[in-house]
Amino acid sequence: MRILVNLITTIQFMTRRIALLIILFASSISFSQTAQDDKYRYSVDLNNVSDNKLTVELITPKTDASVVRFMLPAMVPGTYSVYNFGRFVSDLKAFDKNGNELAVTKPDINSWEIADGAALYRITYNVRQTFGDKEEPKIFEPVGTAISEGEVFVFNNQGFFGYFDGLLRNEFELKFKKPQGFYGATSMIPVLRDDAEEIFTAPDYHTVVDNPIMFSVPDTVTIRFEEMNVLISVYSPGKGLTAKDFQEPNKKLLEAIRKHLGGTLPADRYTFLYYFADMKSEGTGDFGALEHNYSSFYYMPDVPAQAKSFMLKQMQSTNAHEFYHIVTPLNLHSEEIGNFDYNNPKMSKHLWLYEGTTEYFADYIQLKEGLISMDEYKEKIVEKLNGSMNHNDSLAFTAMSAGALDEHKDEYRNVYQKGALIGLCLDIMIRSESGGRQGWQDVINKLLQKYGKDRSFKDDELFGDIEALTSPKVREFLDTYVDGNNRIPYDKYLSMIGFKVESTPYQVADIGGVQMGFNSTTFRLKINKLMNPDNEFIKSLGLKEGDELVSFNGKQINYMNARDMFGSPNNIIKPGDKFELVVARESGGKSEQVTLKSTIKDTKTEYEFSVTETKDKTADQELLMKSWLGKN
Ligand SMILES: [Zn+2]
Repeated sequence: MRILVNLITTIQFMTRRIALLIILFASSISFSQTAQDDKYRYSVDLNNVSDNKLTVELITPKTDASVVRFMLPAMVPGTYSVYNFGRFVSDLKAFDKNGNELAVTKPDINSWEIADGAALYRITYNVRQTFGDKEEPKIFEPVGTAISEGEVFVFNNQGFFGYFDGLLRNEFELKFKKPQGFYGATSMIPVLRDDAEEIFTAPDYHTVVDNPIMFSVPDTVTIRFEEMNVLISVYSPGKGLTAKDFQEPNKKLLEAIRKHLGGTLPADRYTFLYYFADMKSEGTGDFGALEHNYSSFYYMPDVPAQAKSFMLKQMQSTNAHEFYHIVTPLNLHSEEIGNFDYNNPKMSKHLWLYEGTTEYFADYIQLKEGLISMDEYKEKIVEKLNGSMNHNDSLAFTAMSAGALDEHKDEYRNVYQKGALIGLCLDIMIRSESGGRQGWQDVINKLLQKYGKDRSFKDDELFGDIEALTSPKVREFLDTYVDGNNRIPYDKYLSMIGFKVESTPYQVADIGGVQMGFNSTTFRLKINKLMNPDNEFIKSLGLKEGDELVSFNGKQINYMNARDMFGSPNNIIKPGDKFELVVARESGGKSEQVTLKSTIKDTKTEYEFSVTETKDKTADQELLMKSWLGKN
């Protein structure tokens, strides 16, 4: 998974910086003759949409259980938040073979209980889409569902299809009736695909969840490698981006990853599913992506053709990140991930590996294979150093991981910042300890031989495994900076390859956190959410959610200087400074400009990092830099 926090339309200054028509499936059901066996037989008619809802029908697997519990997931692999997909299901009904309705109770938000399991034959229910839904917790769009009649359907299957408690390993059949001209892009292999219907089968529930399907009028291209067929499918309502636009960039990127992984891509097929959201109608989703074994799904803002190259560049790192996930966590993970529990998820301690190392390699591979320059790479490191300072830098990453669903929820996003930096430091340490002979990827390759998709490691044994393949000093690094509550002395590790890391302190106003959005009609940044509305400064200023930013202290606010508003290295502030903010505010159906004034009281220290390359490297630095860049 990757959440894009820096994209224009989702600039989020986290914390310190700143009705229903029930569609009775009358036509096709007729208490059909479909035989009941061990299979789940699902069917959905995409021509039959009402109120952005679809009706799902399930011919259930045969069971002798006295009580059957039907469930939708609370959480799915690759995400580290509880979403409760059961919230989007309504009007669930259960029937016996003769069409008599059976009693259904609802023990919790994701479950339904049917008392007479042996009589159960058929279940029907309605599903509403998650895209644009305002109910908390908001579902991260790359995990969610879209139901847009005659336009597009996003089947992240956990949002539509459930399972019986304890019956995850039965076969699933998914049957879709579709509008004319539609195509279901997915890595699942259809058993039937014609003009009116597509049918897929999956050996178990995990495979169903692992293979999202996007139905739309197709815009697809393919890329072929000897070992892997790649499908790219694009839904862009403004047609600013097409599948063809991704063909060359993705081919180059996959060639780079292939080279990095030793010459072979780690699957026989792969699908990139790109959904570009019309920001006028869909508002403020979270942009980003989610990985699977054979595909990845992306939710990004639809941009005009003029912004094509910007968007392709933005997406290169996200593409690399999602694809690299095939390595970890998909093929290298602990038992918590390997035996994933959809309704009582347990967290592993090693998010620094699953997300952090993935984020590290996504950028590193681009540098090593020449897709980005050293200057661009250094900028990414600086972004991550600055970003990590918005989080609790002395919270052990293993503790953060284990508490990512609850206690340390707000620290999760640090996996993309400090998590990636841990990957970089670890790579340098491993090279230093082996005289440049092996790096972090070499160690991972050895771990992949020991473990794999179906063989999990034990959370507490991973560091021992890494030590056995490296040295006690590498273990000490992990114990001190990943498992310990210690800040990483970045300069110490990065100087081993001849980088100099410096940080300059500066003051910022304490605003308690503001989540920013972008109004694509007015082209103004907008206050989406005040994380702490009781913050004294925010209250004295009178800033409200929904306010659009016009100017601060006489300066027009744009994307580039918005960060400076409450203090930055470019805008030095101190307590006692006067602060004047002009906002555009909706009032009685009209937008009017309001001037807000206050005085800065409390400030706190932040750091601006820089990374430079040492000109006269020592022989050791030279050796390790060459090793790191794969030039030795
Ligand atoms: Zn990820």
